[in-house]
Amino acid sequence: MGEFELIRNYFAAAPCAQAGEGVALGIGDDCALLTLPPGEQLAISTDTLVAGVHFPAVCDPFLLGQRALAVSASDLAAMGATPVAFTLALTLPEVQADWLQAFARGLNVMAQSCGLGLVGGDTTRGPLSLTLTVFGRVPAGQALIRSGAQPGDLLCVGGPLGDGAGALALVLNEREVEASTAEYLLARYWSPQPQIALGQALRGKATAALDISDGLLADCGHIALASGVRLLVEQDLLPLSEQLMRLSGLQAAQQAALSGGDDYVLAFTLPAQHLTGLQEAGWPVQVIGRVEAGEGVALIDANGQDIPVLTRGYQHFREIR
Ligand code: ADP
Ligand code: MG
Repeated sequence: MGEFELIRNYFAAAPCAQAGEGVALGIGDDCALLTLPPGEQLAISTDTLVAGVHFPAVCDPFLLGQRALAVSASDLAAMGATPVAFTLALTLPEVQADWLQAFARGLNVMAQSCGLGLVGGDTTRGPLSLTLTVFGRVPAGQALIRSGAQPGDLLCVGGPLGDGAGALALVLNEREVEASTAEYLLARYWSPQPQIALGQALRGKATAALDISDGLLADCGHIALASGVRLLVEQDLLPLSEQLMRLSGLQAAQQAALSGGDDYVLAFTLPAQHLTGLQEAGWPVQVIGRVEAGEGVALIDANGQDIPVLTRGYQHFREIR
């Protein structure tokens, strides 16, 4: 199978690559063309996933397709953007029909659930890696950026933390746990659900937002720096799933929530007047701390005392610099 046949069979023919809203021209030309409604801005994000670094080299291609797109779509959620389209640059060591078919199916499932059309890409030979670029739209000036947090705002998250990091031991077959717990945690790792609707609901309300990919404390550090404020995280307020608690126990679960990464849950700062309205409308908004004047991120106990933090998050290449 040649490059063009491969593209045609597995990607151009996928349901998510057919005509969709905002896509004036899809796969097959030199560029795709997107149409933005007047008054909207284009939100763009790229992520590369390398085999053996971001996912196990031997893994289920269907799940990989799902997860790769979910991770990228989560960045659109974090901006409050409405998903429009994505491109896929795929580097493959060899052409394996079964693998490609399952991968494309997983990608397609997530694309359709997020409302993302596949509009182009690139296909090359080499060690397995995926680069996905997602495009979304957002009313001009309303994107949820990182720099608007204000002293007095609440610090909130959109759901339980630490599941993705906790699940890693199961993904790598280092741990075993009863089936129902494993099923929940593995799903949280392999098919995180980007919080797209929540991101849009936070437009005009949250003062800063991001999606937690590198660990809560590390990512909160980005908001603190961009906004010129100090974020306080209260350890006892961290939302932890019962499944993670069952797998890891309280201490390790807290550690996973604080520093583990791979959550793809939104973290955001919110003026207190918006809290009840959002919660009553059914949005999963959980307060985990607050913003004050100053800099950096501190972990505190219920009495406001500092708790020392060992590791804050995962950074590629930090060890070998
Ligand atoms: P060019 O040489 O003009 O960059 P390519 O031969 O790389 O074009 O690709 C042909 C068409 O197929 C383009 O529209 C490109 O966006 C699309 N394409 C290539 N690889 C992929 C892929 N993995 N997924 C989706 N579309 C792809
Ligand atoms: Mg090309």
